[in-house]
Amino acid sequence: MWKTEKNRPYLITGPCSAESEEQLNTIAEQLVQKGLVDTMRAGVWKPRTRPGSFEGLGEQALPWLNAISERLNLPVCIEVANASHVELALKHNISNFWIGARTTVNPFYVQEIADALKGTNASVLVKNPIHPDIELWTGAVERFQKISGKKVGAIHRGFSTFQTSKYRNIPRWEIPIELKRRFPELFIMCDVSHIAGSRNLITEVAQKSIDLGITGLMVETHPNPDAALSDAKQQVTAQGLEFIIKQLVLKSSSVGSKVFLDQLEELRAQIDKIDEDIVQAISSRLELTKEIGSYKKDNNVTVLQLERWNEILETRGVAGEKLNLRKEFIYKLYEAIHSESIRIQTEVVESDLAR
Ligand code: PEP
Ligand code: MN
Repeated sequence: MWKTEKNRPYLITGPCSAESEEQLNTIAEQLVQKGLVDTMRAGVWKPRTRPGSFEGLGEQALPWLNAISERLNLPVCIEVANASHVELALKHNISNFWIGARTTVNPFYVQEIADALKGTNASVLVKNPIHPDIELWTGAVERFQKISGKKVGAIHRGFSTFQTSKYRNIPRWEIPIELKRRFPELFIMCDVSHIAGSRNLITEVAQKSIDLGITGLMVETHPNPDAALSDAKQQVTAQGLEFIIKQLVLKSSSVGSKVFLDQLEELRAQIDKIDEDIVQAISSRLELTKEIGSYKKDNNVTVLQLERWNEILETRGVAGEKLNLRKEFIYKLYEAIHSESIRIQTEVVESDLAR
């Protein structure tokens, strides 16, 4: 299950949404012809964030997918979000499923789907929830493992965010890494299309995922991506996918170096996370600085308060030393932070004056 003999990652490819029988046949044939599909994907019921978008063709598309699966001897998987989706899919011989990010967030839905799968031979790939909650993801994997055992895997599809990011969904790689730590045997793949959000970013996301030892890729592919009824910007043609896959550097298969690289990437992902927190903390600190600026202004107090500044240097220096950080380093760091605080407060005072 989820293994390929080919010299490339395991591939789940196919359109974001099933749009017509012809669209499905065309992309399936192109992908098979290029050897770029191990399991075909197609969304039949589409969870759209806003109403009025294309919500999928529903049951109508199931016989088309089943026919492709039989004709091309190709496993097919679809998203299911409730028990009736499962029933309808099984009725049409489709038994490979993924659980969408908007479903993983809700343990009631997850349990309902798991119950509907009892006694079947279905496979399930559980996408991470839309927000970075490792416990919900873990819980959903556990609920399905109870029913489907080894035929359960996970898909990392990134997380929604208010932060500005070049990606549609921020990857937060430390979270799939933590899932891997919790379930060492679990197959985890990466939905590079939904993380990237635009086709020109897919290669770098896919490479990063491979560097982290996530060895399967889900890539949305469409015969005519720009005309796609959903997620047009992130879909690629079969040819586009071929180009992406050719560019990827697979990591050494020699155990020693793979372990080494995995470990290195794992540490780097932890550093990335800490750096994100540092930047966030500095930003929050400077926001408070701004508030203090207007407070000082209202009370006619000078921006620079030497006594407070000395106290900060002293206490932070001592705290740093306790954590094996050199006092000189802490001083330099705080000089930079403090001078930015002073700059911001001066700006606040001056803008008040201008009013
Ligand atoms: C999809 O795979 O088309 C999809 C809707 O994904 P997600 O649940 O990750 O948003
Ligand atoms: Mn999509």
